[in-house]
Amino acid sequence: MNTLETSLLEIIEKVIREQLEESKENSGIQSDLAIPIGVSARHVHLSKEDLEILFGKGYELHPKKELMGGQYAAQECVTVVGVNLRVIENVRILGPVRSKTQVELAKTDAIKLGVNAPIRESGDVKGSASVTLVGPKGAIFLKEGCIIAKRHIHMNPYDAKRLGVKDNDIVKVRIEGERQGILENVQVRVDDSFRLEMHIDTDEANAMGIKCNELAYLIK
Ligand SMILES: [Zn+2]
Repeated sequence: MNTLETSLLEIIEKVIREQLEESKENSGIQSDLAIPIGVSARHVHLSKEDLEILFGKGYELHPKKELMGGQYAAQECVTVVGVNLRVIENVRILGPVRSKTQVELAKTDAIKLGVNAPIRESGDVKGSASVTLVGPKGAIFLKEGCIIAKRHIHMNPYDAKRLGVKDNDIVKVRIEGERQGILENVQVRVDDSFRLEMHIDTDEANAMGIKCNELAYLIK
């Protein structure tokens, strides 16, 4: 390539970059407000007692993939049975064990199983829906514990300060792409053990054409 071609290319590149920047500014995108998205598939948290009923006395989960906040996806899965006796197999268990068993489904899953699962923050299971869990060694009927997780953003105190939000704030984010739009009622969760990541379920991700590790932009 001769020098004329090289400098022409440089000029074209510069023009394109400037136009891209301009269109980003016009659409309100600011990269310092970007938040990586993690899509949570349906999963189960188990109490020690329930783990032993499903997998046998003294059973311990085997970590498969590390998640934030000391949690991990276990190798073990269970079958979730709805009140209509329809089933969803191979639902991943997240460890370590918790004080209470909790089943997190997407709305599509809840419809399939005929359960009226409420949208809740993780851990808030009082009066939530009933399902049955089946493991290799036993089954348990959960009177309550089945929820649809309320969408939320994990962050550490440093990011909270940088983004100008605090724990439990409700914020809006913008999603770019073919199915772009705005997600409201997103809960902020601040803890030292968190890294910046927005968690949505598979229904929310599919509705907005989002894949894991894509970005949402906090709307100020
Ligand atoms: Zn989360």
